[in-house]
Amino acid sequence: MKTKLLILFTLGLILVILPLVANAEIIDSGECGPDVTWTLDDAKTLTISGNGYMTSAPWKKHNDVKKIIVNDGVKNIYNEAFICFRELTEVSLPTSLTVIGSNSFNACSALTEITIPNGVTSIEGGAFIECTKLKKITLPGTLGSIGAWTFEGCRSLESITIPDSVLSIGENSFQSCTALKSFVFPRNITKVEDQMFLGCENLLTVTIPDRVTSIGHSCFWNCSSLQGIDMPDSVTNLGTCMFWNCLSMTHARLSENIEHLLPNDTFNGCRSLESITLPQKINYINSNAFLGCTQLKSVTIENNGNAQIGENAFKNCISLASITISCGNNQSKEWFQENGYADILKIKPHELEKHDRVEPTTTSGGTEEYWECTSCKILFSDSEGKNRIDEPVVIPPLGNVDISKAKISKIADQVYTGKTIKPDLTVTYDGIILTEGTDYSIKWKNNKNPGKATVTLTGKEPNTGTKTATFKILPKPTELSSLKAGKKSLTAKWKKGSKIDGYEIQYSLKSNFKSAKKIEISGASTKKTEIDGLKKKKTYYVRIRTYKEVDGKKYYSEWSDAMEKKTK
Ligand SMILES: [Zn+2]
Repeated sequence: MKTKLLILFTLGLILVILPLVANAEIIDSGECGPDVTWTLDDAKTLTISGNGYMTSAPWKKHNDVKKIIVNDGVKNIYNEAFICFRELTEVSLPTSLTVIGSNSFNACSALTEITIPNGVTSIEGGAFIECTKLKKITLPGTLGSIGAWTFEGCRSLESITIPDSVLSIGENSFQSCTALKSFVFPRNITKVEDQMFLGCENLLTVTIPDRVTSIGHSCFWNCSSLQGIDMPDSVTNLGTCMFWNCLSMTHARLSENIEHLLPNDTFNGCRSLESITLPQKINYINSNAFLGCTQLKSVTIENNGNAQIGENAFKNCISLASITISCGNNQSKEWFQENGYADILKIKPHELEKHDRVEPTTTSGGTEEYWECTSCKILFSDSEGKNRIDEPVVIPPLGNVDISKAKISKIADQVYTGKTIKPDLTVTYDGIILTEGTDYSIKWKNNKNPGKATVTLTGKEPNTGTKTATFKILPKPTELSSLKAGKKSLTAKWKKGSKIDGYEIQYSLKSNFKSAKKIEISGASTKKTEIDGLKKKKTYYVRIRTYKEVDGKKYYSEWSDAMEKKTK
């Protein structure tokens, strides 16, 4: 009897307790989309199920939800769905999701961890604002965009890995993430939006990829731990107040391609910054740009135009000891001189490159030689860079030239080659070199065979007149092939010449052919001769040249090398 009672009692107890443990009681439920339903149980678990999109969040009165389960089939998290669920600690999301709606987890201040499943392409604005305990968020490789303000005020977030699939991150996204220590942008980002890291007071480093072309205003405002910035050269535009009060920043490397402007207050209050180089294209340093940079010691302004400097740009830069500006930057020079920096101002010298004189022709002008600074592009008429000129000094066109008054430089003797000979000519008129084909044309005569050749210059329109010059074409020289000794005689043999009328042989007791005697041999076909009447046992030097007779005048070749032989 007792045993039966005990069994009945135990069974009764199980029946009462079981639903409480295994099947918590549903306390509210409904629809939150055309094909999506929700239930809330008494354990504070909100479960969303169905196939399709959530279009409402009708559970707003239950803001003590502890756990959210979204079942597979649901495609989005609706805007503001779980806003101010301050007791929420656990979230399970399905891979059917594509969108995390705006402000959906806003102020879920107990949430420490969340995984966004693969398949989600967009996290919309403010989705995780003020999730003050959020330490870990895992983002999927399908994610393309992160809306504005998404992680603002996530004060426990020390690090976050953004996949390279992300192409845009909205403004203020990490504002006041006061635990964030380092940040690496995904590599395809082209724009860093306004106030992205405003107030991230523990942020030490930020890596900006080399596709970024603009960085928005106040981006690093009050990032008081930021160590420095290394800006890629892809950046062309900066917003204002970018590094305002980056108290720890010691170095800043700016993009070479920042167009025109360093905006106002860019480095205002960067009291650890020690040196700065403002690249070439920056020609306006706006007001307050370096206001209160009390450790700033050296400034280099590379712009070589006339960079303008705004009001208070360097105010309270009490450590400033060196300002270097480029040679042509006279506006900056004046500004620094007038504002009490004359003593520490250094001006880079010009880097001069010579441009050669360009000769004028009869129809077009030339230019005198001049020097150009490769840095500031200013022109000078002298190699020292003293006489500045606005443009190269023009030599006017020659106008009509009477070629008969031109000078032809002396034409050296030429040697017969079997082909026509056209030596290079230097023709000048009043010291200016004339150009063949433009100023005059050339005609050659008798310029192949040995003899006197003629060149005639004729002025080309509008030039007039003619000028002739002559030059000699000498026969080709020959060589001695042997020299044999005889008794008081020598026999010389040589190589037969062509296009000649004969040979002349010289012999002498001296190697310089002083008091030499000669033998003339007419006819090209003779190839040897005997030199008689010499002294015995004496060394004679012998050489040969050819000649050609034209119009009764002999044209001789160069002498051959000499041979020497002792007579018997
Ligand atoms: Zn210069």
